[in-house]
Amino acid sequence: MSNLSFIEPMPGSPWDTYLAQVDQVAPYLGPLARWIETLRRPKRALIVDIPIMLDDGRVAHFEGYRVQHNLSRGPGKGGVRFHPAVNLEEVMALAAWMTVKNAAVNLPYGGAKGGVRVDPATLSRQELERLTRRYTSEIGLIIGPDRDIPAPDVNTNAQIMAWMMDTYSANVGATVTGVVAGKPIPLGGSLGRVRATGRGVFLVAREAARRQGLALTDARVVVQGFGNVGSVAAELFAANGARVVAVQDHTGSIHNGNGVNLAALTAHVAETGGVAGFAGAEPLDNEQFWEVECEFLVPAALEGQLGEERAQRVRAKLVVEGANGPTTQSGDRVLHDRGIAVVPDVIANAGGVIVSYFEWVQDFSSFFWSEDEINARLERILLGAFEQICDTAAQLKIPLRTAAFVVACSRVLAAREQRGLYP
Ligand code: GLU
Repeated sequence: MSNLSFIEPMPGSPWDTYLAQVDQVAPYLGPLARWIETLRRPKRALIVDIPIMLDDGRVAHFEGYRVQHNLSRGPGKGGVRFHPAVNLEEVMALAAWMTVKNAAVNLPYGGAKGGVRVDPATLSRQELERLTRRYTSEIGLIIGPDRDIPAPDVNTNAQIMAWMMDTYSANVGATVTGVVAGKPIPLGGSLGRVRATGRGVFLVAREAARRQGLALTDARVVVQGFGNVGSVAAELFAANGARVVAVQDHTGSIHNGNGVNLAALTAHVAETGGVAGFAGAEPLDNEQFWEVECEFLVPAALEGQLGEERAQRVRAKLVVEGANGPTTQSGDRVLHDRGIAVVPDVIANAGGVIVSYFEWVQDFSSFFWSEDEINARLERILLGAFEQICDTAAQLKIPLRTAAFVVACSRVLAAREQRGLYP
């Protein structure tokens, strides 16, 4: 980051990638392009110090963030991440991608994201609770059911959302279930929320394959990341006749040409913390993982994984982005030149935030829907938005990512223009 301005990107950072994506959409925005600078600047970024008492009596400090990239179309919306690599630029990019994602699927939200730079595996459950509560209290200045609504992301889950809801509620003196999504069901959580992101990845992948005349039966699937997104997507691929032939996570990579037994892998991961050492597959070199021949490659881990060099070695028909920002700008170019279609994150992984929206609506009305109703509505919104993006891509002869940005950024900038500037 330069000393001059926090919006100056570090070359190759997620924020840099996002800004390059904005540059690409600019020629397709018509007169709305005069507002484009809006997209290059987060509206608001809050950096907080989070001091907590450790179990042994020492005090530790952590750095936390909540960035509201854009609020033109509604309150901020986006997850909270606990990870040792979290920094302001990363959270800015993730918040900006939420602006685009929420607009791409036409949810009445702006875009926001939060994070704490911490390795939660090094904390006890009590320390994690104290960290979560103090972080929530610090960002309490800017969140709220009509201001900005956090949700789970990397290394955060329903329990953490319960602590966030409780802390916010204690501070305002009333139970406010709608302040976060992804809560446990008894606290106003929504059925289907936990699996929604992985389900959406699968639904969009299946539709993209159908459009390319690619069969799911016996299709080979390679998945990076076996967390909440990758594991659910993998399971749905397998349940629909595909074979998951390779999986990578932070512990290593595994390969089984006949298809990995996912129930057994899930049990192994629950027991050991990762895919490495799984008896039902061969270990695989972490770089060779990217070369495994497949129909679907699903990066569902962290951003910046698929750069130029790896993109040159990919042997997939379709890349479906379960993670946010997994493909770099040069990686995108190489895949495009090689004729490998990329279904971008802002539509492929939008299932999670769509069901977060359902949760928020259900909390407001205190009326809860059945899981079938939720899944049907999820599919309708997601595939409707995907169709619009595909139509835009065909009409303008542009890649799906640029098309998704055209659809989304047009909505954001039209709202910006209609609201006008104050004063
Ligand atoms: N963290 C998820 C995402 O990146 C969900 C965000 C939300 O539900 O607000 O889309």
